[in-house]
This record gives sequence, C-alpha cells and structure tokens, in this order.
Amino acid sequence: MAALVLNGKQLSLQMETDLTARVAALRARMSGGAGAEPPVLATILVGDDPASATYVKMKGNACVRVGMESRKVVLPQSASTAQLLAEVDALNADPRVHGILLQHPVPPQIDERACFDRIALAKDVDGVTVLGFGKMAMGEAAFGSATPAGIMRLLAHYKVELAGKHAVVVGRSPILGKPVAMMLLNANATVTICHSKTQGLPELVRQADLVVGAVGRPQFIKGAWIRPGAVVVDAGYHPGGVGDIELSAVIDTCAAYTPVPGGVGPMTIATLMAQTVEAAEKAAG
Ligand code: NAP
Repeated sequence: MAALVLNGKQLSLQMETDLTARVAALRARMSGGAGAEPPVLATILVGDDPASATYVKMKGNACVRVGMESRKVVLPQSASTAQLLAEVDALNADPRVHGILLQHPVPPQIDERACFDRIALAKDVDGVTVLGFGKMAMGEAAFGSATPAGIMRLLAHYKVELAGKHAVVVGRSPILGKPVAMMLLNANATVTICHSKTQGLPELVRQADLVVGAVGRPQFIKGAWIRPGAVVVDAGYHPGGVGDIELSAVIDTCAAYTPVPGGVGPMTIATLMAQTVEAAEKAAG
C-alpha cells in the first residue's frame, strides 16, 4: 500500500483559511469594528544571514495573507545583547504587539538564550522561552515551539497513532529536538532522543515506529536504517530540496512521511500564525 503523505502544505492552507476568518472576527468585535487594527506579529532579524532574512520575509508574507500586520525590527550584524534586549523590552511593553519572533540564529556575540528568555510569556508565540518550554513539558498552557508544535498538529490531523509507539528523535536542539521529544512524550509515545554523541544510531533508528529527523545534515538518516511501516517526519531542509532523511529510499516502504518541501516547513509558519492569533484573542479577552 502506498505511504500516506503527511501534506503540510495542504494543511497549512486550510489553517490559513481558518485564521483569516478568526482575524476578521476578532477585528469585528474590537472597538473599531471591521476597521479595528489587526493583530501584530513583530519579527526581529539580527545580522545579514540570507536564509534568516528569507524565513522572516516568509513569516511576514503569511501575516499579510491572514489579515494580520507584521512589524519588522532589523538590527545590524554588530548588534549587542543589550541592544537586542532593549528591542525585546520595547515590544513587550507595546500593547499593539501580540507576538514576538526573534529569528534564530543571532550573531555569535549575542547571548541568544538571554534574549529569547526576555520575551514576555504571553507574546512568546514561537515558543522559545525556558518558561514556555517548562510549562509545555509539564502539560501546562503555553505556546509550543513552532516547528515541533507544527509537527504535532500534522500528526494529529492525519490521526497518526502515538500512544505506546516508540518515537526516535534524532537531534536535541532547544527549538526542535528537545521540544518535539517532550511533546511526543506528552502524547504517550515512548521516546528516545539521539544526538552527536549517541552510539549505534542506525540500530536505534531501526527500533522506531516514528522517526523524527532534526539533525541539520542533508539526508544524514539513511533509508536502510528505517524499518518498513514506520512513520517518517523530516524537519530538515537543504539546498536541492532534500531534508535530513533519505526519503526517496523509504517512500515505498514506510507507513507515512512528510515530504520535503511541503511537509514540516509550511506547518512551522502556519503554527506561528495560529499562535499569534491566539495571543491576540487572549489579549482582547
Ligand atoms: P541544530 O541546532 O544544529 O541541532 C542539530 C542536532 O543534531 C543537535 O542536537 C546535534 O547533536 C544533532 N546531531 C548533529 N550531528 C549528529 C550526528 N552525527 N548524529 C546524531 N545527531 C547529530 O539544528 P536545528 O535547529 O535543530 O535544526 C535541525 C534541522 O531542522 C535542520 O535541517 C534545519 O534546517 C531544520 N529546521 C527546520 C525548520 C522548519 O521550519 N522546517 C525549523 C527549524 C529547523 P548535539 O546536540 O550533540 O550537537
């Protein structure tokens, strides 16, 4: 039987339709009626990494598509931690701003963790703060890290069974591997987290009912490591349109997979939009 395609592009379009209606409804019930100001996602881009600039632009475009406003803050490559903290403080204090996205990575002289953690919890729509992570891990209300939360939405949409399944996550970054492992654990999967010091990685991946590739290396996880019938989630994206998993080798044998592109990537942006709309709805009471 052909593998199920976990079509993130399609689901993200459905989510955008729903979000457009929610934004319109929110504006209609605010004091200015339909003319009321739209929800605002503030994006902060530091430095001149072209990939980061592209991601921020894509997020800004998505805001416009659902009727929100995106406010761009751009800091030079030479910016200091103090400068970035001051920008975050200003956005935290601005009642017009509902969500704050600080694009990762920032230049090396900046204390990225300190800047992430300065984002007010109510505006942490990208789910990057230690407090938000802790709350999510404990099953309390908090916005999840956008890529992992997008993966979980996609799995839920396609009714992928997680309870009791063995999930193997390859990667443990603060924005991806660690939070997705916690979310899978909260969904009652049995979770193995692998990283650069893991020994016997192919054997561990072979045990997986569900594999998450979050390594940052093109096609690092080989098709031969993945057992037939597994669910394959590839968070990676590299030039040439490949991810972190050798997908071409498993699409005929796995149960389901996220395509690259069109799987996890669009879900990240749609989840960021959804969490910003939710933050605006909460702010409006
Ligand atoms: P990252 O911060 O570089 O983390 C990579 C992780 O992979 C680390 O935990 C590292 O282990 C682990 N790793 C490196 N080499 C390994 C090896 N030989 N064996 C096992 N594990 C190894 O990357 P990231 O930010 O999590 O991103 C991961 C991937 O997801 C990238 O391809 C990125 O482009 C993609 N991504 C996509 C989206 C999206 O919206 N679609 C968003 C974010 C990221 P250590 O901890 O031991 O160093």
